[in-house]
Amino acid sequence: MRVGEFLASYPGDSGRVFEWIELRRQGDVWMGQVTGLGAEGATTHLRSRSGNDDGFIAELGATGAATAILDLKIVERGEGEMVLSGRRVQTGSSSEDGAMAAFMAEYDARVEIRTSAIHGHGVFARRDLAAGAVITVIRGEMTRVQTPHSARITDDVHCEPTGYLRYINHCCDANSVIDASDPARPLLRARRAIAAGEEINFDYIENEGEIVGGFACNCGAATHHI
Ligand SMILES: [Zn+2]
Repeated sequence: MRVGEFLASYPGDSGRVFEWIELRRQGDVWMGQVTGLGAEGATTHLRSRSGNDDGFIAELGATGAATAILDLKIVERGEGEMVLSGRRVQTGSSSEDGAMAAFMAEYDARVEIRTSAIHGHGVFARRDLAAGAVITVIRGEMTRVQTPHSARITDDVHCEPTGYLRYINHCCDANSVIDASDPARPLLRARRAIAAGEEINFDYIENEGEIVGGFACNCGAATHHI
C-alpha cells in the first residue's frame, strides 16, 4: 500500500472543514498527522489501533486522550490517485452519533499542498505535467450559487469544490485552466507545461467573470487584471 498525503473534507458545524492527513505505514499500524487548513491550523498525531490495506481505525491526539477517531476506508483510484472515505468521530461529545462526520479524502501523487507565497496554502506540482494534461477531476456540490471558492461549470452552475481545487490560487497569467466542455465531468488541465515544484494556479476572472469578495492580487504576473 502506497502512503502519502490526503486532503480530507467533511461538513463541520459552520461549513465545510478541510484537513491535510499525512500517512505512513509501519507493519500493521498506520501513523501520521492531521493538520487543520482553516484559521486554527492545529496539528494532531494519528495512530491506528490496527489496520490493513483496506482501511483502519485511528485515534487522533495523545494515547489515552484521543480527541477524535478516524474510521477510514481506502479506495485505490487508478495510477497515482487514491481516495479515502470514512467518518470522523469527535470523542467526549454529548451526542457521538451527531458528531460523526462523513468525509472524503483525496490523494494525488501529482500534487501537494503547502504554504504559498501568493496566498495561504497553495497546490504544487510534484512531477512535470505536459501541456493539456488532466491535473484533476473537479468534484463537489453543484449549485447555482457563486462563492469565493466556487468554480463556474456552466453559466448558471457553480461547483463548490470538496477537493484540493479549493486551495489552488488565482494567477493573472495562469498555468492551468478549467475545462468544463463535459459539465458532468469538469476537469482542471495544464494550460502549458508545468515543472515539478511549480505552484499550480488558474485564472479566477476567466473562470467566474467576477470575484465574490475580491482581493488584492499577489500572483507575480507582469500585469494584473484583478
Ligand atoms: Zn495577478
